[in-house]
Amino acid sequence: MLKVDIIEHGTVVDHIKAGMGKKVLDILGIDEKSGNRVALVMNVHSGKMGKKDILKVEGVLISKEKTDAIALVSPRASVNLVKDGKVVEKKQAELPESLHGIGRCPNPNCISTQEKARGRFRLEGQKYRCGYCERTFKPEELV
Ligand SMILES: [Zn+2]
Repeated sequence: MLKVDIIEHGTVVDHIKAGMGKKVLDILGIDEKSGNRVALVMNVHSGKMGKKDILKVEGVLISKEKTDAIALVSPRASVNLVKDGKVVEKKQAELPESLHGIGRCPNPNCISTQEKARGRFRLEGQKYRCGYCERTFKPEELV
């Protein structure tokens, strides 16, 4: 397995569905401009999943809200918060019951798309229903 620098203070997102690492970066709002030291390792072999992506971000401890948003693109992702080189908290991403300000409605005729309103969705089974147009979508369609 590829060795990546151990982080001192930050977040490790493990068990990301292979190919979804970049989407997770988008969800976390991290890009070239944010200046964080980031390691994204793609297509790592994993016993459980076949292949997975792993993301390490130095200097950022991500919130529960962001952790759950990761579940949209990768339901089995796990999030480890690291302080002083030690894992201090492990969180499992879970699909939130409702989304506010996370996700965009994919329906081009939806009023939220036309007025650039913040997304509002509620979970029904494994799908989200848009609070504006009432259509349902798969979690990954909202990102
Ligand atoms: Zn909608």
